[in-house]
This record gives sequence, C-alpha cells and structure tokens, in this order.
Amino acid sequence: KKKPADFDPKTVACWGKGERVPFLFPSLAFDLISNETGRIVITDIVCNMLRTVIDTTPDDLAATVYLAANKIAPAHEGLELGIGDASIIKALAEACGRTEPHIKTQYKEKGDLGLVAQASRSSQSMMRRPAPLTVVKVFESFRLIAKESGKDSQEKKKNRIKALLVAATDCEPLYLIRLLQTKLRIGFSEQTLLAALGQAAVYNEHHSRPPPNIQSPLEEAAKIVKQVFSILPVYDIIVPALLTGGVWDLPKTCSFTPGVPVGPMLAKPTKGVAEIVNKFQDIDFVCEYKYDGERAQIHYMENGSVEIYSRNAERNTGKFPDVVSAITRFKKSSVKSFVLDCELVAYDRAQKKILPFQILSTRARKNVVVSEIKVDVCIFAFDILYLNGQSLLHEQLKVRKEKLYDSFEEESGFFQFATALTSNDLEEIQKFLDSAVSSSCEGLIIKTLDRDATYEPSKRSLNWLKLKKDYMESIGDTLDLVPIAAFHGRGKRTGIYGAFLLACYDDTNEEFQSICKIGTGFSEAQLEERSASLRSKVIPEPKSYYRCEVKPDVWFETSEVWEVKVADLTISPVYSAAIGIVDPAKGISLRFPRLVRVREDKTPEQATSSEQVAEMYNAQKHNQTNNEEDGEDD
Ligand code: ATP
Repeated sequence: KKKPADFDPKTVACWGKGERVPFLFPSLAFDLISNETGRIVITDIVCNMLRTVIDTTPDDLAATVYLAANKIAPAHEGLELGIGDASIIKALAEACGRTEPHIKTQYKEKGDLGLVAQASRSSQSMMRRPAPLTVVKVFESFRLIAKESGKDSQEKKKNRIKALLVAATDCEPLYLIRLLQTKLRIGFSEQTLLAALGQAAVYNEHHSRPPPNIQSPLEEAAKIVKQVFSILPVYDIIVPALLTGGVWDLPKTCSFTPGVPVGPMLAKPTKGVAEIVNKFQDIDFVCEYKYDGERAQIHYMENGSVEIYSRNAERNTGKFPDVVSAITRFKKSSVKSFVLDCELVAYDRAQKKILPFQILSTRARKNVVVSEIKVDVCIFAFDILYLNGQSLLHEQLKVRKEKLYDSFEEESGFFQFATALTSNDLEEIQKFLDSAVSSSCEGLIIKTLDRDATYEPSKRSLNWLKLKKDYMESIGDTLDLVPIAAFHGRGKRTGIYGAFLLACYDDTNEEFQSICKIGTGFSEAQLEERSASLRSKVIPEPKSYYRCEVKPDVWFETSEVWEVKVADLTISPVYSAAIGIVDPAKGISLRFPRLVRVREDKTPEQATSSEQVAEMYNAQKHNQTNNEEDGEDD
C-alpha cells in the first residue's frame, strides 16, 4: 500500500483518456483512506482521486462520486440496495466455489463479510479472468440490483452480485461487499467528499479562475459545493453542472426546485424562557407551538403534482393521500407552485383536538387508500420555502411568514398556521408555553424573525430554539440513541434482554460510541417487543466501528433509534460518547435513562451526535455554575 504522500494518482491511473475508470482505482483510494485518520490528508486523497477522473474520463465522475458517497440515488428517489447478509453469503459461496457454512464460519471469525470476500478471492486462481470491473459497471449493477423486484428478485440480485465478485481482483471484493451492505465506513463523511469535489473542480484547467475577491479558492470551492448540495442533494445535477460551468457559477446553475426536498432546518435545545430572552436580547423573535407529529415538506409543482417528503428527505407521498388531495383547496388561486414546511398532526375533527403522536404512528406507512384512513391529520404550516417559481430560502422568516399567510387560507382541522406569539415578555412567553402544553403540544419553537433568519437547510441552527416543557427540569432535551448490545435478563426478565447498551453516533470518525445502559422506562410488553425485534439483529462480534469498553452479553447490528429521557450527563471512564471532545481520555455517560419511544423516522446515523452530547454536557455544566452563582447571591 502506498502512503498518501506517495499517492500520485497518475501512477495509479493506468487507463487511457476517455476510457472507463477501473473500479480498482477508487478501491485503492479507499484502501489508502482507511489507513488514515487526518481529515486534511483524507480530503487530499479524495480530491486527487476525483481530479484524476476529471482529467481522464469526466463522464465517469458522477458514478465515482456516488460510489464514494456509498449511495446509488438521491434520498428522495427511494432507491435502495436492500441486500441482506444471506444473499451476499450465497453469492460469495458460489463465486468462490465454497460452501455457505464455510463462509459463515469465516464471517464469525473476521466479523466483516468484505474481509471474507477478499481472503476468498486471493486464495483462488482462475483460468480465464472476466473483463476488469469499471466504476460505471459497478454503479449500474448496483442500481439494477436495487430495481429488481418480483418473484425471482432475490435470485437475480444474488446472480448480479456473483458476477461482480467473480470479476473482482485485489482489494475490490472488500469494497464491493462493503458498498453493497451500505457500510463503506472508511472514516470519511459525505461532507468531506463534497469538500473534495469542490477542490477537485478548482484544479480543472478548462474553467475560469476564481473571482478576484476570493482569498482561498480551495476552501471557498468546498463551501460552495457543500452549500449547493444542501439545497439540491442530487449528484446527477451537480456533477454535470460542475463539469460544464465550473464551481464558481454552481450556485447559479443549481438552485432549489420543487420536486427535490431540502434537508429540514433543525432546532437547538434550550432549558427555559429566561435563556431564550437572554439569547435573543436585541433580536425580534417569534414563539410557535411545537406540534408533536411528523415533519413534512409539501411540494406543489406547476403541473399540479404534489409530493410530500419526510424529515429524512424520503418520499412520503403514499402515506398521506388525504393531504395530497386536500392541499390545493387551501392555496389561493394566485399560487402556482410552492414548498411548505409543516408538521402533520393526528387530529380529532369532531372534538377539535390535537391527538398524541402515538395515534399518528398507527397510520400505515405505504400505499394508503383514502377510504381506509382511520386517523385524520391536520396540516400545521409554519414556513414557506418556495413560491411561484422563486426560492425563499434566502428571505428572512418575517418575509416568509407574510408570504405564507398571504398565500393560503386556514380550514379548521385540515390546514392551520402554527399558533404563534411575537413577544419578548418573559411572563407572556411562559403563559404561551403553558397553553401549548395544554393543547397537546411538546412545547415551543422560538425563531429569529428579521435578523439571522434565513432558512438554513439541514442545519441545527441557533436561530431556532426548542423549549420542551417536560424536560426543562432535566437536561433540556431527549437524546436519540442506538441499541448496539444487550445484557441477558434475570429473575422476572429471564429469557428476554434485561438491559440494553446504547450508543450515540460520531460523524467525524463514523463510529457508534457507547453512552449508557438502559433497563427502565419499559413496560414488560415493550421490553419483550424490543427484545424480539433486536434478536434478529444479533451479530457474533462488535463491529469495527463500535467504540465501547463495556462487555455486554450480545451485540446487535445497528437498526433502531430510541428516544431517551435522562436526568443528567456525567464524565465517565467507562463509556466512550464524545471521547476527546470534553475530556481527552474519558467519555460522557447518561444518568437515569428512560425510554420515551422508538423513532421510526431516524436512521442509526441520524442518532444524536457526539458533538451534540458534548454540547448538552457543556450546557448543563454552564447552568450548574450559574445556579451555584445564583445560590451564592441569595
Ligand atoms: P432532533 O432530535 O434531531 O433535534 P427532532 O426530530 O427530535 O429533531 P426536535 O428537534 O425535537 O425534533 O424538534 C424539531 C421538530 O419539531 C421539527 O423537525 C418538526 O418536526 C417539529 N415541529 C413542530 N412544530 C414546529 C414548528 N412550529 N416549527 C418547526 N418545527 C416544528
């Protein structure tokens, strides 16, 4: 393996200009990256990889970027590989002439099917090698695998995987398998890829020089690509635009359009009304009810079609046909296209009452038929991001609100604007919070109005603060954590798991870090349900990307996300959460964790991040210091 300093893509690039890029090329780059930890070095390697593709075969850039992102399509297209270990094991056994039990034993030993594939290949000789794999061939095969459906789809998927494996050499089998499992995990995030893509575009000699006012073109280009991706997360559009128009014009050529969801703006936790008034001292802000339903971005296209996207940018249109058919009723006739940000909330129209989230979660998830709907929903609209051909993301909230109120009519129980209060009076806000809670809302969301009040896609912004009544006495917010292991139950809990080990997610190192044990907050039925669901996720060894010093009885593949309420956070020598952020050698743990609910709308990688855990710890410390100071004053 070459060291990064020796990584001259030209020596690795052994294909002619215009020829398909071999899959071995990104595979070698992945191998180099997996031996590195520094973000700058990793960005350099990815940048060099992409530059080489731009210089030789730019047509293959989009496929290369997709593979490096370990994706096969934008999230809103909903195309997923969906391959279980069983299919891979079968394909691997057939491709290498081994038996399935043999592969399974090796899997147990190595804990990574990719490593099993690599070891099996290197011990196999072949009379006639198939043509070498190319990036485009692998990418297209992945898409075909994802699209297989119907009766023999498992068999067809397996055969496609087998064909890829038979042609794979060197380190290709390792990365083929990891990509197929959507677990590349070589230690770089999509943000690093975007930065590298921007930097690679700067080196493209066919494009214009950076504008004269730009001091550091590489940094600026990275920022541009990240920003554009946050409003148009579609490589199929961004990559060709980069190749034809260059990076400096990218914001002009790629803009927000109905039909492609932007990542939702998110809120930071806060503990009390006083803290809000303090934080927003000289800024106008609005307080809104925080409804407890499901986030929805409703897109209405000029051709009259409607799409609804979830918090994760997944297409949720099939779940809410009632909303789709009703939405046009509430818009004024001058409105030709729009994107609404709102919360869909279970609603009892007879009683004129908001219903709890638990009721909403009983609705079927797919292909819902209007006549079979038992739980009605009311749309609570709080923002408008696009109107009549114009993006409003750069407008201040005050302007967006005016446009929202001007463009739609309320209809009780069907479409309502989020209840809002503009005031900076402590007592008034406190009363408003109480009224939100008595109207079955979780609390308030407080938003800046006319300064620092643009819409920040995919960002947890300080310009949106959430105030949840329940948690004000504890740490201000719940955490969303991933069960990665469990301990066998004793006594009454014999036969089921007695406690689980939870982890947060560290995006920088792409690892799950242990944070606490949880054994309370479950009813017996719930405990059985969770045990049953996780039993199918048991794995023999912890994954290489689990950071955990605790020794549980069984390990799980990551699958669920649990919302957990805690009393407070403490520094811990045993748990690994946020290790190195607050303390160089110790992590953070949670005291008295209790299960609130399972978060169906989050993937494990969207769990609370280690950075958020550190922020919560610091906020708590800050509050304690303040309280102690207050105490001394008394
Ligand atoms: P995370 O845990 O990642 O912060 P979350 O999904 O748990 O996100 P919160 O941060 O607790 O949500 O709160 C933000 C969510 O509150 C939004 O995603 C939205 O679904 C919901 N919400 C309800 N009412 C409003 C409102 N008026 N304005 C904005 N969001 C609202």
